[in-house]
Amino acid sequence: MLAKVPSAVVTGVSGTPVLVEVHAGRGLPGLTIVGLPDASCREARDRVRAALIQSGFDWKDTRVTVNLSPSEVRKQGAGLDLPIALGYLVATEQVKPADLAGVGAVGELGLDGSIRAVPGLVCLAEATAAEHVIVPLDGAPAAARIAPRIVHGAGDLKSLVAGLCAGGRLPAVVEPVVPRHDARPDLGDLADVRAQPVARFALELAAAGGHHLLLVGPPGAGKTMLARRLVGLLPPLDPATAAVVTRVHSAAGLRLPACGLVTQPPLRAPHHGASQVGLIGGGGATLRPGEVSASHGGVLFLDELGEFPPVVLDALRQPLEEGLIRVARAGHATTLPARFQLVAAMNPCPCGAGRGDAGCRCTSAARGRYARRLSGPLLDRFDLRVEVQPPDPLLMLDGPPEESSDAVRARVDRVRALAAERGVRANAEIADHELERWTPLTDDARRDLESALRSGLLTGRGLRRIRLLARTVQDLRDPVAAPDVPLTAASVMAALGMRMPMSTVVGAA
Ligand SMILES: [Zn+2]
Repeated sequence: MLAKVPSAVVTGVSGTPVLVEVHAGRGLPGLTIVGLPDASCREARDRVRAALIQSGFDWKDTRVTVNLSPSEVRKQGAGLDLPIALGYLVATEQVKPADLAGVGAVGELGLDGSIRAVPGLVCLAEATAAEHVIVPLDGAPAAARIAPRIVHGAGDLKSLVAGLCAGGRLPAVVEPVVPRHDARPDLGDLADVRAQPVARFALELAAAGGHHLLLVGPPGAGKTMLARRLVGLLPPLDPATAAVVTRVHSAAGLRLPACGLVTQPPLRAPHHGASQVGLIGGGGATLRPGEVSASHGGVLFLDELGEFPPVVLDALRQPLEEGLIRVARAGHATTLPARFQLVAAMNPCPCGAGRGDAGCRCTSAARGRYARRLSGPLLDRFDLRVEVQPPDPLLMLDGPPEESSDAVRARVDRVRALAAERGVRANAEIADHELERWTPLTDDARRDLESALRSGLLTGRGLRRIRLLARTVQDLRDPVAAPDVPLTAASVMAALGMRMPMSTVVGAA
């Protein structure tokens, strides 16, 4: 007898429909899987057999062939265990075909018959070509939110099949939960950042204009604490981005919120010792997303930027330019979303003491290497480059209370509304050909920029970034102005003050 169960496989963050065909008939007893399964997928044979026996079903002395179609698509991972097991039960006449009509399935089987979540469950449920899809309970809310299917969550094979045999009853439908857009991750409040006016202003500009931010300063200056607070200033994700971020996090095997949908901008802060694949993506046979993709729609925080391997820093160029990253492995490749706001922290020199400081223990060769690694195109990407020093202890103790994140976010939202009138989500995204339209200059502002260019304080490449940053400065100061009001000299000078010259960033350069 022949059974067919729709399912899917995932590459990167895109699912491909797969039809699992199971035939049971005469011949040498055994189970063979054909149709380009990889090693993890071939192991389904052993998991399915154990799970079926443990759940009280018969393992028949017949010849069973499993064909995974289309045969040219590489099948990887354990997500086909459940459809193979269900197909086996129909093919060996332990379940009636009618009871499984129009039903697809995705899930890994434990040897005890439990149905377990697999990475990419959201994309798998989405790609499965059936009206009803059975998925593992863990991960079912996210699948129900995103996939245009009737999603049923199942915990174990035994009770799933018991329901099917009792008149074709499927497990309970998982209803999409309305996500809470107000639930913010607790990453600290800006009110705690005292006696750091420049750093506070930099964070506000970064949040309002979507500008990449570089914090330069010695260890202990509070760079990490600042970076964490940026996420709390950003608006929640729009519905389309929320769906993309949820797919990426599902494929990366990250924990999803209880409602299933990621609604807040994520913060990812990988260590510089993390593997290249973990950072960039392309892990496993499924080309699993890395940290640059997991931070899509949110913030990628790289602490100790100078310690990251040059190959990783180089690989950031494509996502920073195009908002995506291409990963490849063993002959197949895919493109993953990777549009993030980059926040980096670094010491002024390898030992952390900084230029001109008597305490610096670095050799000139070490400083040179450090500077070469960081200078150039990457540092140019940071619209905001500010120095952070440990705050004055007296001001921390006796200074006036600072504004909270809520108060700052209200201003950020107004600037974002102005950006929307310009057709972008944030000022940093204004395209080259729109620059003249949205960042026109007053005569005074033009003169100041000209002298900054002549003195070498500003490079040609930096000019565009300064105009975008000055736009955000002026929007914050005057949020009720028209979106194309010319930039004043004061805005341009304030922007120049928030973008430390490259030669100062890498002290020894
Ligand atoms: Zn040093």
